Amino acid sequence: MIIAERKPFDEIKQEILNYKKVLVLGCGTCVSVCMAGGEKEVELLATELRMAAKIAGKELVVDEMTVQRQCDKEYVEAVIEKAAQYDVVLSMACGAGVQFVAKTIEPAIVMPAVNTKFIGVCEAEGVWAERCRACGNCMLAEYGGICPVTMCSKGLLNGPCGGAKNDKCEASQEKDCAWVLIYNRLKAQGKLDNLRKFTGARNYTFQASPSKQVNEAYVRPELAVKK
Ligand code: SF4
Ligand code: SF4
Repeated sequence: MIIAERKPFDEIKQEILNYKKVLVLGCGTCVSVCMAGGEKEVELLATELRMAAKIAGKELVVDEMTVQRQCDKEYVEAVIEKAAQYDVVLSMACGAGVQFVAKTIEPAIVMPAVNTKFIGVCEAEGVWAERCRACGNCMLAEYGGICPVTMCSKGLLNGPCGGAKNDKCEASQEKDCAWVLIYNRLKAQGKLDNLRKFTGARNYTFQASPSKQVNEAYVRPELAVKK
């Protein structure tokens, strides 16, 4: 899932400084799971903004709304009418959600309230770790299911840099060397021969931005498999 964290409160206050009616808009999917922008976080931020306005003697209306996904037309359409009643929408979704809402309700003003960090997993309660950089050409099959693009600080595809100490990365002693992890995983799988293969330079055309994916069966229903 996409992992994000809330922006510092002072930065958020600055973003809405010139407005009097604010809609804090949450997203019920990734940012909700990583506790950055779901219904609870919307309530918390809205309360903080109201309190800060009261303390500052400023007139400010702050309302709340959360949709299932801010990156999906089906859910964002419900925002259009509501957003028209506010000076600014403070979106607590990831960067994709913020942009999608901004496009859907343009030229209304939409501000981001969270910083989008990475695609990752929940390792333990309250701990999220990066696992994928969406390179567009997944090579996990070759590396025992450990991504060298993400897990190696240098993104090396053909073995370690030689700087690891005690199995830790030379860039950070808190981080395991990805190539130690890859070696150990391939060894356990009896696939060490994978390391003899040379992987050429990464093909960055897979990451030409902005990417688009079209599922022909949905765009042209006549191509869908008949049941
Ligand atoms: S190789 Fe790594 S960055 Fe690329 S898609 Fe697979 S997991 Fe993601
Ligand atoms: S020590 Fe390991 S993880 Fe760190 S940059 Fe070198 S090869 Fe990559």
